[in-house]
Amino acid sequence: MADPRGFLNIRQRELPKRRPVDVRIQDFKEIYERQDPAQLQRQASRCMDCGVPFCHSGCPLGNLIPEWNDLTWQQHPQDAIDRLHETNNFPEFTGRLCPAPCESACVLGINQPAVTIKQIEVSIINQAYDRGWVQPHPPERLTGKAVAVIGSGPAGLAAAQQLTRAGHTVVVYERDDRIGGLLRYGIPDFKLEKKTLDARLNQMMAEGTRFRAGVNVGTDVTWQQLRERFDAVVVATGSTVPRDLSIPGRDASGIHYAMEYLVEANRQVAGERLADPIDAAGRHVVVIGGGDTGSDCIGTAVRQGAASVTNLAIGRQPGISRSASQPWPTMPQLYEVSTSHEEADAHSGERKWLASTVEFVKDDQGHVRALKVAETEYLPDGSRGPKDGTEVEIPADLVFIAMGFTGPEANGADDQLGLGFTGKGAFEREADYSTAADGVFVAGDAGRGQSLIVWAIAEGRAAAAKVDAYLEGQTVLPAPVHATDRALRV
Ligand SMILES: Cc1cc2nc3c(=O)[nH]c(=O)nc-3n(C[C@H](O)[C@H](O)[C@H](O)COP(=O)(O)OP(=O)(O)OC[C@H]3O[C@@H](n4cnc5c(N)ncnc54)[C@H](O)[C@@H]3O)c2cc1C
Ligand code: SF4
Repeated sequence: MADPRGFLNIRQRELPKRRPVDVRIQDFKEIYERQDPAQLQRQASRCMDCGVPFCHSGCPLGNLIPEWNDLTWQQHPQDAIDRLHETNNFPEFTGRLCPAPCESACVLGINQPAVTIKQIEVSIINQAYDRGWVQPHPPERLTGKAVAVIGSGPAGLAAAQQLTRAGHTVVVYERDDRIGGLLRYGIPDFKLEKKTLDARLNQMMAEGTRFRAGVNVGTDVTWQQLRERFDAVVVATGSTVPRDLSIPGRDASGIHYAMEYLVEANRQVAGERLADPIDAAGRHVVVIGGGDTGSDCIGTAVRQGAASVTNLAIGRQPGISRSASQPWPTMPQLYEVSTSHEEADAHSGERKWLASTVEFVKDDQGHVRALKVAETEYLPDGSRGPKDGTEVEIPADLVFIAMGFTGPEANGADDQLGLGFTGKGAFEREADYSTAADGVFVAGDAGRGQSLIVWAIAEGRAAAAKVDAYLEGQTVLPAPVHATDRALRV
């Protein structure tokens, strides 16, 4: 185990520095600096190697957290990355982007700040890349079977890597011009620089995974054609239909879904020149929605030089500590200040809670000029709505709707393959990721609804094991227990 007295001697969490706000908003580079190795080792020593490591059940991948904490403390970084890769294909994504439910479940978190699990994870993989330890692992033999994976987000990539390593010939189809799903065109570089994604894709190509970008399945090639050409198909098309806000004035110009904005901004950061991109420079920006997507719009707008950025959330401001209804080891909903909120706070930003938008107000040219916002009222039956007589106008000439996603686009998968939809709008599937169509499996947000990267990777791995068993009659591929068990509980 890590230092038996570590948690007694080191009581505080230490995280690497963030670049100063006024420096980092000048560019789109990542925000966190590398952690000092001695500090990292000190932090790893805080892990108590609990008899029942609750962090395992907190992590959807079942990451072997105490083991790589110990290896980090003992300074065996190569063993640590081997251990981490056993359960997680892409720790560089989760180590940067995961909300770390493991830390909410950390036993030390009962009466001390939790172990810095996510930071230790990203430090292990960063070091592995620096030292050249992330090498291709091509299969020793080919099975002669072929699998099509549709969608190149974290779920599709995890499934593809597992199935390639199991010896299948895997082709990943992606309708965008570049591979990566939301890692490529959703999440901004200040959270994940794209060179990190490219490094992993290079490893996958060297292992034999084939990528076909710019192919919209259902249009450029039919689902049936793919099913006939391949021995199995994995649908990992994400949850991409945005939730709308159908209120008066919605047709005004200057109102965009968050993803319209983020895709363009990501393209520009990647060096593309767009004809007439959405630009927040000098504008009064309002972002409707308080999640990751809204936060990413805020950070992007601040970097583009917005005059002001207001973030509206319809619900109450969460508390700063666990409530009685969200006890340890559950993941509580807490008030959080993301790095983007921190930046907006320093630059005329404001967060408004209990804010129900009731109308978009247009100017004479039909462009949005303000939002009418009422206070949210919670009714005795648990529903909520705008409270009469509380409306105020918030100036806005650029609005981003970041209210989540309702499910995957059918794009022919329903007619051509017979895939159904759940009541929540996701593709219908069994607990083993199979569907009504023989040999067709669904993984990631397409099957569980809008979720997290860690869940996408977990489901991609678990679905790959089921596909391998379907093709070979048995499988040696590991699958996170949590992902399989919970597949239907979405
Ligand atoms: C702006 C934003 C920020 C986020 N930030 C975080 C974060 O910080 N941390 C976190 O854990 N999660 C975050 N999430 C959620 C996370 O990105 C998703 O849960 C995750 O990417 C889902 O992975 P996936 O592989 O299922 O789907 P996706 O990543 O959505 O990938 C699906 C891919 O399928 C492609 N596709 C769809 N239909 C077809 C078709 N017919 N033919 C070919 N290709 C098709 C799409 O173009 C897309 O590239 C964020 C989401 C958004 C929108
Ligand atoms: S993937 Fe997320 S939940 Fe799992 S160990 Fe890493 S930070 Fe924790």
